Amino acid sequence: MLAPSAHHLSARRAAMLLFAVSCAVAAQDRPLTVCFRNAAQLRPLTLALTGDAIRSYARELNADIQITCVDPDVTISLLAAPRDHQPPDALGAVRTRGGAILPEIEIYCQPIRAMLDTRLDLSEARAYAMVAAHELSHYLRQSGRHGSAGLDSEYLSKGTLAYGVPRLRGRK
Ligand SMILES: [Zn+2]
Repeated sequence: MLAPSAHHLSARRAAMLLFAVSCAVAAQDRPLTVCFRNAAQLRPLTLALTGDAIRSYARELNADIQITCVDPDVTISLLAAPRDHQPPDALGAVRTRGGAILPEIEIYCQPIRAMLDTRLDLSEARAYAMVAAHELSHYLRQSGRHGSAGLDSEYLSKGTLAYGVPRLRGRK
């Protein structure tokens, strides 16, 4: 039995996206394998686009990502809504046990969709992937801490979800 998720990403307010915090993540020497569990029954196209979109965060996460459910390093469950013990505006969470952040991520599709003005598959997929990348960052950093801006912000604004995390020049 896992402890309740101790970390949530919520949508309560927009963050000012002025500064980036670079995170020191050890480079992986092999791809990080990720499996999606589609409990929310997203359309196959949306699911495929979400996989493509999360792979685009390789630079921010300092890890190449491969989508496979064969012995995956990380499982991302796409759920319709947050669980009862979570805030209703939670967008995603990562499970913890003791001081460890587990490779078990949940994405809450309804609250994410509620922040978008479009039903386009690609827009939804990019938003799901952004939340997933945020939670993946917690796992890879083994830290629940947040930065003041960008992917590691505690709150993702509607604009950021719709248009993406600003990618700063010169960031490696
Ligand atoms: Zn977070």
